[in-house]
Amino acid sequence: MSASIKEIIINQRTFFNSQQTKDITFRKKVLKKLYSEILKREKQICDALYNDFKKSEFESLISETQFTLAEIKDLIKNLKRWCEPERVLASLTNFPSQDWIYKEPYGTVLIISPWNYPFQLAMVPLASAIAAGNTVALKPSEFTPNTSHIIIQIVTAVFNKLHVTVFEGGVETSQILLKEKWDYIFFTGSTNVGKIVYKAAAENLTPVTLELGGKNPCIVDETANIKLAAKRIAWGKFLNGGQTCIAPDYILIPPQVKFDFLKELKNEITRAYGTEPKKSQDFPRIINKKNFDRLAKMLENETIVLGGITDESEFYISPTIIDEPKPDSEVMKDEIFGPILPVISYTSEEHLEEIITSYNKPLSLYIFSARKSFIKKMIKKYSFGGGCVNDTIANFTNKNLPFGGVGSSGIGAYHGKMNFDTFSHKKAIVKKANWLDIPLRYAPYGKKIWLAKKIRKLF
Ligand code: NAD
Repeated sequence: MSASIKEIIINQRTFFNSQQTKDITFRKKVLKKLYSEILKREKQICDALYNDFKKSEFESLISETQFTLAEIKDLIKNLKRWCEPERVLASLTNFPSQDWIYKEPYGTVLIISPWNYPFQLAMVPLASAIAAGNTVALKPSEFTPNTSHIIIQIVTAVFNKLHVTVFEGGVETSQILLKEKWDYIFFTGSTNVGKIVYKAAAENLTPVTLELGGKNPCIVDETANIKLAAKRIAWGKFLNGGQTCIAPDYILIPPQVKFDFLKELKNEITRAYGTEPKKSQDFPRIINKKNFDRLAKMLENETIVLGGITDESEFYISPTIIDEPKPDSEVMKDEIFGPILPVISYTSEEHLEEIITSYNKPLSLYIFSARKSFIKKMIKKYSFGGGCVNDTIANFTNKNLPFGGVGSSGIGAYHGKMNFDTFSHKKAIVKKANWLDIPLRYAPYGKKIWLAKKIRKLF
């Protein structure tokens, strides 16, 4: 296996060196083909996602296929402009010159993706790397085999093998791929595996994007519109069965509004998924036994105010609210990544700070409040990847906003123009004119030291 991986990488490198991928017309042509193949197979993709973890058609359309198509459309529309060298202001020390930033592809890119949004988290980085002129080796998650199968069909229909190759397989495949030398690695997954990827990349000084996870706080203060907050939180939390990297992980709320909030939250969950969410067409399952067991353990010895129903035969966990878990409880140890929502009361801003800063920098933070000064303070005070005021998840959907973490929730960002920028090296070029050659910089320096000190004052 590892010999053939080596061979494929060598062939991809040879293909990259042939300069074909640097042709913008070629890039646009394959992106257009990719767009139409996805569109053609949209129903098949939704079916695959349903078969993998009962993801509903609506959620598959909005969060997987339509999202991917919109990003590809944006790449096609802007590609020529983004590829053009950018002229920047020349510096006085280089006079006379024209200074430029050229965008060049890194070369051979490795993309490793997770299972929770298995289509878009593989296809958006793939399309972006291709738009920037790279070749790609893609390793989708082993836990969503139906989606991976469609991805292979699409990639085979659109790309020649030297340009893009999909490697199916689990951890071992990933480990073999990580032993190779890549020009760029784009990884989406857990913080722990992110560290393994970062270490492997460091061996060859390979640049990386790491899109990781975290424990995302959601603050609801006493001035918030409680009913609307409950509705927007329930949507963002239970979308994809809570298996979303930017889902609100836990609620922080003052005790005086907690009762009302819990009432509205329960109403909203029941309105959305019925009294028996297991029968709902819109509520997905947990991806596998390992995650089912991990989540089921979080329910032990807790005060469950809604849900808490599990069925191992289908990896089903109902939307669940836990009231006031202890700081050292299982549910508060790590990112939950499932349909369980702890609600914790805070009594002061100091208390809020104590809870939030006891975890690493999260991927998202959400604030529900009507107080402008409080909102401003929270945004400034805490470091997190991105977030929303009076909403959840919505930061993901605007292509003009960077999507990525900070600290242990990630390195780098993408979406919109950053899709192209992430996979492009910026090459700085000074084009010097010959009609003038200022003698100052040349030795012997002698009395020029005096002049050098004077010049400093000009900048
Ligand atoms: P994961 O880290 O277990 O797996 C991700 C990928 O890495 C898979 O393709 C897997 O095969 C591979 N992998 C697993 N263990 C490995 C190892 N030891 N060495 C090399 N490769 C390995 O993550 P997951 O369970 O698929 O996804 C859930 C996690 O991903 C959550 O923590 C979530 O927050 C995070 N996530 C982040 C984003 C984001 O955009 N920031 C998006 C989705 C998911």
